[in-house]
Amino acid sequence: MIQPLEYVRIIQPYVPGKPIEELERELGIKDSIKLASNENPIGPSPEAIKAVSSSFADINRYPDGGGYYLKQVLSEMLSVSEDELILGNGSNELLDIAVRTFMTDGDEAVMATPSFVVYLMAVQAVGGKAIQLPLKNFAHDLDAMADAITPKTRIIFIANPNNPTGIINKKNEFDRMMGKISDDILVVVDEAYYEYVTDPDYADSMKYLKGRRNILILRTFSKIYGLAGLRIGYGIAKKNILNEMNRIREPFNTNTIAQKAALAALKDRNHIKKSQETNEAGKKYLYKELNSMSITFVPTEANFIYIPVEDSKSVYERLLRLGIIIRPMGPKAVRVTIGLPDENKRFIEALKKAIS
Ligand SMILES: *Cc1c(COP(=O)(O)O)cnc(C)c1O
Repeated sequence: MIQPLEYVRIIQPYVPGKPIEELERELGIKDSIKLASNENPIGPSPEAIKAVSSSFADINRYPDGGGYYLKQVLSEMLSVSEDELILGNGSNELLDIAVRTFMTDGDEAVMATPSFVVYLMAVQAVGGKAIQLPLKNFAHDLDAMADAITPKTRIIFIANPNNPTGIINKKNEFDRMMGKISDDILVVVDEAYYEYVTDPDYADSMKYLKGRRNILILRTFSKIYGLAGLRIGYGIAKKNILNEMNRIREPFNTNTIAQKAALAALKDRNHIKKSQETNEAGKKYLYKELNSMSITFVPTEANFIYIPVEDSKSVYERLLRLGIIIRPMGPKAVRVTIGLPDENKRFIEALKKAIS
């Protein structure tokens, strides 16, 4: 019988949640709300929806494998050249390409735990070894991460803000870490929630594109832009990195509809502003309610809140029966996405019942 590679056998496959309709049928509930995946509760930009509709007639053609127009606009907005940009089928794919380009069997990657699970999966998929360092005050311990580098280390992953805790790393600690890392190690800075951050002390990863040739910044259209279902994200790095990654990238890795929608979403400043405002208002409301219930939580710079609990599975299951879908994060915490005002209200009402 065909056998997988030894290092593939040990990977825990990602377990997808059931479709909402299926859950409702099984539990005999309806009108449930999904606050589990940090999606934009407002929905996509109306401009993106228009762009999607108008691209249907072209789907007999292969997509533009170079992402010409999307890169053009990104390049202007970010003040980088077009060859310092790479598009991916979600930033998830770019994580995967980066790992396959720079790591192999036996190499090490440094990452935090808990953090985004895809780093671990991507590293394990090439037989790499993940060195996982615990968070410090719910944030990446950048000093400890830099100190964990060995001659075998190829990549260091930083989610800023971190998922699932929503905490950022600040300028001075980021600068200190960059000072300790040699140029033969790739620093992957995953900024999936970049557009939600309000703290002025947020580390500026872009400034390292000037002097350094070992940083890859990842952003996505899945979160504030509301296009998670289309799968598109982008990376920013120097040519020395992207030229190598482009050898591995599938020629048509991002599809026509996603490229067009992303371009329209990028330009719709109104939708972005409204999404930020909705998130800020939701955050304020949830903080107030959680405080009044004496529930401790981790203040967030993203669009979700990390709440330590006694027993995450039971909280998750009770909320589910009340029609609220959140994410248990290990045995002792849950993560809830900030929703629309009435979704937040329903979450709080359900939480009151679930913990009483
Ligand atoms: C949601 C998320 C992403 C985005 O993944 P896509 O593949 O772009 O949908 C990347 N990193 C983190 C930390 C995330 O939470």
